[in-house]
Amino acid sequence: MPCALAVHGGAWNVPDGDVDPHREGIIEALKPGWDLLRSGSSALEVVERAVCTLEDNPTFNAGHGAHLNQAREVQLDASIMEGEKLEAGAVAAVQRIRHPVSLARMVLELSPHVLMVGDGAHNFASEHGMELCRQRDLLIGRELDRYLRVRDGEDDLVIREFDKDPLDIHFGTVGAVACDSKGHVAAATSTGGTQDKLPGRVGDSAVIGAGTYADDRSGAASSTGWGEGILRMTLAKAGIDRMASGMSPGRAGQAAIRTLNRVQGKAGLILVDCRGHASAVFNTPRMARGIATLDRGLLVGVDRRMTRP
Ligand code: ASP
Repeated sequence: MPCALAVHGGAWNVPDGDVDPHREGIIEALKPGWDLLRSGSSALEVVERAVCTLEDNPTFNAGHGAHLNQAREVQLDASIMEGEKLEAGAVAAVQRIRHPVSLARMVLELSPHVLMVGDGAHNFASEHGMELCRQRDLLIGRELDRYLRVRDGEDDLVIREFDKDPLDIHFGTVGAVACDSKGHVAAATSTGGTQDKLPGRVGDSAVIGAGTYADDRSGAASSTGWGEGILRMTLAKAGIDRMASGMSPGRAGQAAIRTLNRVQGKAGLILVDCRGHASAVFNTPRMARGIATLDRGLLVGVDRRMTRP
């Protein structure tokens, strides 16, 4: 049975100097994920593990290294879904969780709910044995510096997140999608949200259908980019619906990204289908991404072209 994996580290205006760390970070998640998938691990297990690796890497805006909101807090969103029973779990605006994707999986497996937020999610985590961290465990100097620059009036850091100029803009939600050797698919997404967001703002990454979707009848998808546009066009589900109607992941992804034109959306999407094909598409200047399939092997890229790791 074919298997496939795709991971992303955000679709945005990645500055030249950040291209190499993004590429390295993608390889660090893609290679072990692919090995696990090839040795029989489930798609759900692999997407969680790959996203945990990316959450730990401060290069990316997720987990450790996430953006600060206007109140100088880290607030994280994540979701995960599996395609056999369509079970899903998500958390939003959590502040003391090192691996929001793992908490999302706990919501999927251990609660009757799909989406939990804030303190309720923290309590749920502790009740189920997940250790809470401190805000400062998630904070890195780069993000504090960016917070202070925005407060000092550097508006470009906020309003040009997805445009070509200026280059000094940091984004980088992370995600993974996989099809395993049993033909089951899964998707996961995790983020620190957008630069200078209002406290309590939740983006697409916590929302099933927008940031994450998986269905064994068609495939799995994970989004990244400007959440307010992705939410309104339910981007991940837009890609899935097109795969359900017979399109390849590449064509389905391109068609889904085109729907963003109505809201001037900027985003990227990774997709796998249930036959072991994978693709990554984007309309931002760059997207950190990697795909692994049996027929094409491993491919990684931040610019348009993808190459072997
Ligand atoms: N989509 C995320 C959000 O809006 C941000 C990102 O993908 O970089 O929260």
